[in-house]
Amino acid sequence: MQEEKDNNQGFDNNKPKKNNKNIFFVYAAILLGIVLLQFIPFRPSVQEIGWESLNEMISKGYVKKIDVINRDFAEIYIAEEYFEQAKQICKITNELNPKGPQFKYVISSPDGFDKKMIVAQKDLPEEDKIYTKNVKRKDIWGEAFSWIIPILLLVFLWIFMFRKVGGGGSNIFSMGKSRAKLFEGSKIKITFDNVAGLKEAKQEIVEIVDFLKNPEKYTKLGGKIPKGVLLVGPPGTGKTLLAKAVAGEAEVPFFSMSGSDFVEMFVGVGASRVRDLFAQAKAKAPCIIFIDEIDAIGRSRSKKASFSSNDERENTLNQLLTEMDGFDTNTGVILLAATNRADILDVALLRAGRFDRQIMLELPDLKEREEIFKVHTTGLKISPDLNLNLLSKQTPGFSGADIANVCNEAALIAARKEKETIGHDDFHDAIDKVIGGLEKKSKVIKPDEKRRIAFHESGHATVSWMLEHAQPLIKVTIVPRGKSLGAAWYLPEERQLSTKEQFYDEMCAALGGRAAEEIMLGNVSSGALNDLERVTKQAYSMIVYFGMSDELPNISYYDSSGQEYTFAKPYSEKTAEIIDKEVQEIINRQYNRAKTIIIQNKDKFEQLAQRLFEKEVIFTDDVENILGKREFSADAQEVIDGVKKFREIENGKKENQEKPKF
Ligand code: ADP
Ligand code: ZN
Repeated sequence: MQEEKDNNQGFDNNKPKKNNKNIFFVYAAILLGIVLLQFIPFRPSVQEIGWESLNEMISKGYVKKIDVINRDFAEIYIAEEYFEQAKQICKITNELNPKGPQFKYVISSPDGFDKKMIVAQKDLPEEDKIYTKNVKRKDIWGEAFSWIIPILLLVFLWIFMFRKVGGGGSNIFSMGKSRAKLFEGSKIKITFDNVAGLKEAKQEIVEIVDFLKNPEKYTKLGGKIPKGVLLVGPPGTGKTLLAKAVAGEAEVPFFSMSGSDFVEMFVGVGASRVRDLFAQAKAKAPCIIFIDEIDAIGRSRSKKASFSSNDERENTLNQLLTEMDGFDTNTGVILLAATNRADILDVALLRAGRFDRQIMLELPDLKEREEIFKVHTTGLKISPDLNLNLLSKQTPGFSGADIANVCNEAALIAARKEKETIGHDDFHDAIDKVIGGLEKKSKVIKPDEKRRIAFHESGHATVSWMLEHAQPLIKVTIVPRGKSLGAAWYLPEERQLSTKEQFYDEMCAALGGRAAEEIMLGNVSSGALNDLERVTKQAYSMIVYFGMSDELPNISYYDSSGQEYTFAKPYSEKTAEIIDKEVQEIINRQYNRAKTIIIQNKDKFEQLAQRLFEKEVIFTDDVENILGKREFSADAQEVIDGVKKFREIENGKKENQEKPKF
């Protein structure tokens, strides 16, 4: 099912925060230790004394020598024969250091100290008088610390920055190490049985398993084992799953890494990670290296605008190419890589001897979806009347990952209802949730706004109902869900191509919401943001990519090499003006068409809006009762009937509720 969301209300940015405290504490402890070292005394302790004691010892002639150090303090040497007396004066019991100095006196003012010395010695005979000596002494430790500590701080700051940039897992010492996760082959429980559908892909890849299991069989005859296999397909189609299944079947180790893990803002890191990864893999051969999102490093190199080129990424790619050339075909390392887009990869990667095999994975078709449902419901307690075929008909455009998600959600929903088994309605709710997010029944919407939303959604419903090529309508809701305030849900046809007429009808249906607002309320609201965005993009691509405009027929400016930073548009200013004009014209035409349809069916449309306002959710048969019968494809009709059948139970409950005033 596909949803047409309205009223986009901002964006999520809850990224999980990483916790690096542990390592940080280690650094802090080291730093603290260094600081503490400073206070450990390296010389035997010298007793500090006050002026009173010193004065007495000087005047009695016990002092042999005084050195004034850095004009800060005096070191006092006592004549050995007076040690006992000195101890008494200073009231200490421990032995004095015979080498001296024995005492220390802190000088507050150097001039005052000189005067005090003269006064203290005035009664001594001339030959016993002592003269202080000024000594400059370097405090090596103190000085060293005064510049070591700032440097240390800088180093720690540097390390800290590295760690931040490195994004958690790495630190300065392992920047160049690959961040690949290693799964031991014997522990990988995933086999081809876990991969539903993807028949052709599996066939291709079975051979790889055989290579890994019996390499001699192939090398004996001089054959070359492929080095790289590229899995191409949209997200969630099972690329990682398939790669893991290969490792599980072959029972070999599996290195898994994402392309973006290589790329770091520091020069040389990516390349060294590639080197490290291959070194690790060779040591574990035979094994599989899986690189997810290889386009992060493998994007085509040359054609970019030069100032935005990322040399680091190029170095990484070059290293990857070198490594792929370097390892012998019979080392038993096979590189599997996944990407959404093979067309933007550098041609050098796709050359023979590198990723010379490409396996295309596509979104599952009806039959494949049923198989995927089967795989993911095996572990679940489902009710015996669950119709997997109907479920797969209800989920066109779903990827394998979406289906896995639906099955899990259904189980959770059933558990919340304390049910014994998971029924069809649970799956139905799960599908709704996966498409549209969680229902927000508690969200308060003013009656005015609710009325507007009802008009808007009924506009979509009415217009799409009257158009030949619009997608079959499954349900219309004004219950807030996820970020949207209301939605019309369609069942997209499983088609590979779209004609001009189909584009037009879809755009017209998408504009039906705003058209209805304008007709019924005389003004328009911001609620059509999503509709307008989609319609504008569609109109633009019709003209610029698909060559479907009258003024620029059969011209496509599509760039399949996927360059992000192309500054120069491939067309002239004049053409740009024509494009803008054409886009506006197409949209105007479809908007007016939508308005005409609503005005022509205004009575029925208002009935529908009222019904929607009262019930909040209406389904195909409600729309049919009001707008009249409409032809659907057999598949769509089956889904509509199926939805109707398992809805009837719930319906009973809701009919009894009080109806709000329209
Ligand atoms: P990709 O790597 O293509 O983005 P994944 O391989 O990570 O997708 O798929 C995510 C999940 O979706 C898988 O773990 C699996 O549960 C489910 N899935 C996808 N495709 C299939 C399939 N063909 N059969 C069974 N499960 C699938
Ligand atoms: Zn809308």
